[in-house]
Amino acid sequence: MCRLSLILFAIIFFVATPVAAQNYEFSAEHEHTLRSCRGKLVITPEKIEYQTEHKDHARVWRYDELQQIKVESPKKLELVSYEDQKWRLGLDRVFKFKLLEGEITAEISTLLLKRATRPLVTSVAPAHDDAPAFETPVKHLHRFGGCIGTLKIYPDRVVYESKEMPSDSRFWRYSEIQNFSQSERYRFEIVSFEDKFGGPKAYNFQLREALPATAYDYVWARVYPSKFRRDDRLAQPGNSQTALGKRPATEQ
Ligand SMILES: [Zn+2]
Ligand SMILES: [Zn+2]
Repeated sequence: MCRLSLILFAIIFFVATPVAAQNYEFSAEHEHTLRSCRGKLVITPEKIEYQTEHKDHARVWRYDELQQIKVESPKKLELVSYEDQKWRLGLDRVFKFKLLEGEITAEISTLLLKRATRPLVTSVAPAHDDAPAFETPVKHLHRFGGCIGTLKIYPDRVVYESKEMPSDSRFWRYSEIQNFSQSERYRFEIVSFEDKFGGPKAYNFQLREALPATAYDYVWARVYPSKFRRDDRLAQPGNSQTALGKRPATEQ
């Protein structure tokens, strides 16, 4: 009896402190070009593991063995390994998983963000409760059309949130932005370290409302801290390149 209550105590104790454990398990599907296999995806602070009876596909990766971790949606996780695929025909070095139950929460995103050794690509923003310094409604431009959302600029990050297309939502710390520009007043472009065929992925936003001129300098100083004070005159509110930029065609 005494032993049973000890076990019960242990169970209750561990159930009550999930944060300390930080091990997440999901039943998942590994997507292949042809068909798929099923297994268990385990995410811990030390590793990401895929356990499956399909032995060839079972893996354990330490975080430094992953080139890119992408949370494509709360249900989809894509892992790019450094694995050489030439001797494993048909098995890509990109592992795509679909969670069959549960989802990637803000808490798991936070864990991945802490542990990933390369920039994390995530559509699930880690939980924060601070207010953005700047916020504007935007359209994220695709090759054809686009999706509607909000661009939020914080002291330590830039966030794009799209309810219309949640899988396009992104979270970048300033160190994860390779380049950014505002070619015209109603445009905002972010070049991330996210890998895509043909190089890093650019996000083009059409601003549905102008950002204050100071927003550009605010982001600039954070993306390029070493080049800060590029031009004192431009750093003054109202003198920014953006304010001197093109006016709408209707104002002749
Ligand atoms: Zn598989
Ligand atoms: Zn989009």
